Amino acid sequence: MQVVLRPPGGAEALELSVGDDGRWREPAGGDTELGSGWWALPGLVDSHSHLAADELELRPGEPGRIRERAFACLEGGVFLVMDKGWCDGSVVATLTDAPPSAAPEFEGAARIVAVEGGYYPGFAVETDPDGLTEVVRRAASEGAGWVKLVGDWPRKGRGALPNFDFEQLRTAVEVAHSAGARVAVHTMAPDVASWAVAAGVDSIEHGLFLTAGDLEVMAARGAAWVPTVLRCEALIEALGPDSSGGRLLAAGLDNVASLLSDLPDGVRVLAGTDLAVPSPEVGREVTALVRLGLDPQRAVDAASASAYSFTQREAAFAPGAPADAVFFDRDPYEDPTALERPVAVLRRGVRLR
Ligand SMILES: [Zn+2]
Repeated sequence: MQVVLRPPGGAEALELSVGDDGRWREPAGGDTELGSGWWALPGLVDSHSHLAADELELRPGEPGRIRERAFACLEGGVFLVMDKGWCDGSVVATLTDAPPSAAPEFEGAARIVAVEGGYYPGFAVETDPDGLTEVVRRAASEGAGWVKLVGDWPRKGRGALPNFDFEQLRTAVEVAHSAGARVAVHTMAPDVASWAVAAGVDSIEHGLFLTAGDLEVMAARGAAWVPTVLRCEALIEALGPDSSGGRLLAAGLDNVASLLSDLPDGVRVLAGTDLAVPSPEVGREVTALVRLGLDPQRAVDAASASAYSFTQREAAFAPGAPADAVFFDRDPYEDPTALERPVAVLRRGVRLR
């Protein structure tokens, strides 16, 4: 099969063929052409998935359903997911070492870490300050490269409160890093985002109250920010825009919009669905990032190139590289909504869509 790849952004088109080994090779005579006039990316990425479930509910992940969701990712052109934890390690157990024909490339946390009263009851491992080191060490060994902490959480009648202070976050980062894992912190309230950045956290999930100064620090370190706009909007809707929680989140999203509109170079914004939409629809999060003010090219990269570089993965169209591509009928850098509707998907040279 011969494929004409038009990388987004007006770069010159590239002609490649698919070898029997599922890798790109130089075109040879006799190949049939896949399509024409299409633009291609080497795969989409969901940087905040929860493949254990379709919605946030306290239920262990079922391996069969996890495998179905993983394959649906491939059909949607999502070839890498970073799964940000669950109430068990089912996703890590099911997807670690899954073949590329069956599942996206995978990194993720196992069971989420919080404190008593600091997340949905029964969902997370609940630690106290004395147990933190041991809990994080275990989470690092059970995860696939990630530890996920819930940094703050609303308490009835008291508003959102930190689960961890700066020193505890710094300890968690040290322990996880020395065990070879990275740390993602959920934060939707003031203070904790800045503590997490100063503590050396690798990925800020939601980060509604990040500051411009935090972003400069993150850019210097190559840390990631996964705003999950659609999830935050769904939460505001569920809480009620006039509730105290809804007003806090709306103020946070206003802050996100102002940060995204004037983003320093080097800040890695990544697109994450967080169950607001299924992972294969991560393109809708890209559209939401653009709506909040992010430059369209950086928004497209948020669901592809930026995530590949963040995870130190090569995602290139070149002879010898895996024949993975997701195609669009127009240049997504010109029109990011193209990401919502791939016209074809090639995974290891096999057409899935
Ligand atoms: Zn999440």
